[in-house]
Amino acid sequence: MIPVAAHIELNMIALHHNVRRVREYAPESKVMAVIKANAYGHGLIKIAQHLSLAVDALAVARLDEGIRLREAGVQGRILILQGFTEVDEIEALLHYQLDVVVHSEQQVQLLESIVLSGVVSVFLKIDTGMNRLGIRPEQFSVLLSRLQQCSCVHQAIVFMTHFANADDVYDAKTAQQLLVFNEVTGAYIGEKSVANSAAIIAWPETRFDWIRPGLMLYGVSPMLMDYTEPLDLLPVMSLYSRIIAIKQVKKGETVGYGASWIADKDTCLGVVSIGYGDGYPRQARQGTPVLINNKRMPLIGRVSMDMLTVDLSHGSKIQLGDQVVLWGDGLPVEEIAACAGTIPYTLLCGITRRVQVVVKEPLGEV
Ligand SMILES: *Cc1c(COP(=O)(O)O)cnc(C)c1O
Repeated sequence: MIPVAAHIELNMIALHHNVRRVREYAPESKVMAVIKANAYGHGLIKIAQHLSLAVDALAVARLDEGIRLREAGVQGRILILQGFTEVDEIEALLHYQLDVVVHSEQQVQLLESIVLSGVVSVFLKIDTGMNRLGIRPEQFSVLLSRLQQCSCVHQAIVFMTHFANADDVYDAKTAQQLLVFNEVTGAYIGEKSVANSAAIIAWPETRFDWIRPGLMLYGVSPMLMDYTEPLDLLPVMSLYSRIIAIKQVKKGETVGYGASWIADKDTCLGVVSIGYGDGYPRQARQGTPVLINNKRMPLIGRVSMDMLTVDLSHGSKIQLGDQVVLWGDGLPVEEIAACAGTIPYTLLCGITRRVQVVVKEPLGEV
């Protein structure tokens, strides 16, 4: 078999472990697994097939993602987080049996204006301070009763909101948002859903009827770097490639575009077949670690489209063709994100199409 160079391995055993961890945090809650953006870069359908039996519902951002799931035969509840703007979309929601977030008065108006041959399940989203999607707290009681009178809306309406700062345990905003949510919904009977991964981990009082984990399912911490409690999550995605050249440069010579790295002594360097064309961040700073034979080696020079260079001076017995871990198993993507001045979400989502996918299934490899 021809060895693959840049590839990701998806560890589905880790995925199931992480689902168990989510349930340990919130044993009373139903789990809605967030798989928007191609399941955070892991592959929408593959992840959905693994999760659909393990969780209570799935959530995606957009209608077309939900339709793709249905067309692939994925069953169970699926929530469309961004809602709809047109009547055609409401009809599609009914046709594909998708649940939907209602986050504006205009959407309530649209639902009032139509007659359907069935009912759509609605999550009514309140903006408690994020100021992105959601109705204002003072609109809640009126819009709820209007929704309850719509013939095309299922009577069991779930109340939801979304946190802006739950990753920061020292920030007062989460408690403020929760207070607003509880005040607004307190007098009404209905299921509630507010917690994303960070809230599930750090804000126990947010674990209501439905929790909405995203990042933590993929084995990555959503918390800021100063959060040191062990999470016991396992990374699902590992990014790998191989060394395709090893060479010596002399003191004073430069490496890569922009000649940004200058050897301060004679140096042995390795060229790795991966770059920003695969989704490895071009912003990764000098010294960002890669893992070769279980040892960390520092990135040097600029990341180019298909390659990057590593200082091998402190490695031993490194050979052409050796595997390189860019993130994942043994090298947290959280750390690489910090070295690139970004967050792990963008790195996972940014894996490009040319990167091959190897899936490690619970029963042997496929
Ligand atoms: C993306 C998203 C989530 C999941 O967020 P994580 O930080 O990945 O856990 C939950 N709820 C909503 C509304 C989202 O958009």
